[in-house]
Amino acid sequence: MTKPVVTVIGSINMDLVTIASRVPSQGETILGERFRLIPGGKGANQAVAAARLGAKVHMIGAVGTDAFGKELLHCLEREGVSVDNVKPVTDVETGVAVITISEGDNRIIVVPGANHSLRPEDVEVCEEVIASSDICLLQLEIPLPVVERAVALAKKHGVRVILNPAPAQPLPLSLLEQVDILTPNEHERDIVFADIDASRFANPFIVTEGARGVTIIKNGQPTLIPGFSVPVVDTTGAGDTFNGALAVALSKGMSLEEACLFGNAAAALSVTKLGAQTGMPTEDEVQAFLK
Ligand code: ADP
Repeated sequence: MTKPVVTVIGSINMDLVTIASRVPSQGETILGERFRLIPGGKGANQAVAAARLGAKVHMIGAVGTDAFGKELLHCLEREGVSVDNVKPVTDVETGVAVITISEGDNRIIVVPGANHSLRPEDVEVCEEVIASSDICLLQLEIPLPVVERAVALAKKHGVRVILNPAPAQPLPLSLLEQVDILTPNEHERDIVFADIDASRFANPFIVTEGARGVTIIKNGQPTLIPGFSVPVVDTTGAGDTFNGALAVALSKGMSLEEACLFGNAAAALSVTKLGAQTGMPTEDEVQAFLK
């Protein structure tokens, strides 16, 4: 069987992860337990999730020509993700996310760096790649005009678009109307639909609700697809795993409900391990879990 083709247009970051027993107060210094460098960025995470789950994945994005940038490209290549369309940037550093994990929860500061030097022209030169995809998958860690251009190109060629509106921001209705499936978490839903009546939104959208699973909203009608109960180690990247899995499942022709079940299973497996990309399951692991 030929592999589904997923093109991810989004961010590529190095995650600087500190694990501590608690969060320090303002002005306080505490000793952490462990520090790790872990490849991240919502775009790269979702690309790796889709590749592990059996898709051929093209990444469109930007990294600096620094050590983090080189390492991140190697990591994507090792996962089988094509990085031919990742732009090297000389004047800005590779994006980073500073993450603190304590008491089973995470706090994150993202410094976009090279991700914010992407321009609409950078996706225009990738029109053929976009046109030959089964699905385009996007997030909001790159400039909005780039997202808008990529979505317009995908729709020009009849390619399905999933937009994970993270980090949350209000979005123009003209963009939302072109997106086939929007995948906010509960917080992002409240921001995206702050000034828009969600029940009048024509296309279905999927609200991810942590351990509870996801709710599909179609024509204003909610359907809960329950999550799986698992021991939680690190929830970083749960949403990214869900989005990558959703893209693969829909590309393979699954219904929205089936694809959400597959996404819940993949995301549940990802929270049982440390790190965003490092914790993402393979297709075989998800199949075994669902048996
Ligand atoms: P985000 O990581 O973007 O905040 P969520 O927390 O909603 O998104 O998680 C995304 C998906 O990951 C959920 O819809 C669910 O399928 C899965 N998930 C998240 N947390 C858990 C958990 N504690 N147990 C099982 N599945 C989880």
